[in-house]
Amino acid sequence: MRKETECIQAGYSPKNGEPRMIPIIQSTTFKYDTGEDMGAVFDLESDGYNYTRLKNPTNDMVANKIAALEGGTAGMLTSSGQAATFFSVFNVATAGDHVVVSSTIYGGTFNLFNTTMRKMGIDFTFIHPDCSDEELNAAFRENTKAVFAESISNPALVILDFERFAKAAHAHGVPLIVDNTFATPINCRPFEWGADIVVHSTTKYMDGHDAAVGGAIVDSGNFDWMAHADKFPGLTTPDESYHGIVYAERFGKEGAFITKATAHLMRDFGSIQAPLNAYLLNLGLESLPMRMERHCRNAEKVAEFLHDHKKVTWVNYPSLPDSPYYERAKKYMPNGTSGVISFGVEGGRDGASRFMRELKVAMIATHVADAHTCVLHPATTTHRQLTDEELVACGVNPEMIRFSVGIENVNDILEDIEQALQKV
Ligand SMILES: *Cc1c(COP(=O)(O)O)cnc(C)c1O
Repeated sequence: MRKETECIQAGYSPKNGEPRMIPIIQSTTFKYDTGEDMGAVFDLESDGYNYTRLKNPTNDMVANKIAALEGGTAGMLTSSGQAATFFSVFNVATAGDHVVVSSTIYGGTFNLFNTTMRKMGIDFTFIHPDCSDEELNAAFRENTKAVFAESISNPALVILDFERFAKAAHAHGVPLIVDNTFATPINCRPFEWGADIVVHSTTKYMDGHDAAVGGAIVDSGNFDWMAHADKFPGLTTPDESYHGIVYAERFGKEGAFITKATAHLMRDFGSIQAPLNAYLLNLGLESLPMRMERHCRNAEKVAEFLHDHKKVTWVNYPSLPDSPYYERAKKYMPNGTSGVISFGVEGGRDGASRFMRELKVAMIATHVADAHTCVLHPATTTHRQLTDEELVACGVNPEMIRFSVGIENVNDILEDIEQALQKV
């Protein structure tokens, strides 16, 4: 099936007389005829359900749709993008381990790694995604367990050099984990360029309507855990909490990562997505290809308009021909990047604040990447916990305006920007 068809049909095929839409299985628990039948689920002998803290059928239908869209072998939903990121790393790295991370990642991810996960004993080295091969290779250590980066970084809009990062990760025997939130599988499929695990904040374009916070993890099924068995004991040695099961043996390359994240991390942390949210996410996924196309076409027009405007001091949009990421974007995302643009206006920080106050169509919101055009000043909001030094390191200019172009009529967005710029 092609992407547009998968968005509608993958993950759930109703049988004779069954509901056309995915059912919302709003049940915490599941009934079995015998204790042995239920025991088989607890032992991971059968892939049934026992308790919604670990797994739920509605969630799995939607996760399977996202896995199909990414071209992966297994997927799971989480309660948020943050939970997906945390699980994807904690599934392979624990106290005493180390992870190499792109320095331009989303501020929330930076805090998760640099503050919370450091307290859990995991060390991180942040490197700029455009650093030299020498710097990239020098970031790895004996105890490195993964490389983490964003396909389009939020909000710096750096396009990842997927093949270079995948090559470096694989040369050091570790997986490349990519946060594909901004591009979505409609515009980019990281597995085709060497990524091993993909995570999403489904809160953004996938849901697309500001309706439900959520996350997803997809496994490519390509990473050979057993070939690096000493590095990944959690996947390659017996899990005593499941009668000594070895995930990589029992579930193979295709299923080990997601099974462990479900059976172990979801069991213990319970960061499950509510089935109703999964249903809402599924509604968003059905129209994702049409929306992404409209987001990109609208954003291209807005970026060109800003680019030619005398009150705009700089524009960063990877689909603009003078962007340093233009060629890379064309290669990895030939149909467009995303609806997100960043720029600066005359008057720096104050100019940004005046411009935002005057906007009428574009709303000031923490959110990004959904149907509504919205605008944000990262330095005073999403990234306000970071020092100016950290801001610059993650590609956020203190005067930067992050503008997320929605799917409204583009002329209304352009007129709104024009009237607000006149007052700057
Ligand atoms: C929003 C976002 C996240 C975090 O997702 P939540 O659903 O808000 O937890 C992670 N990565 C990127 C790129 C994001 O934009």
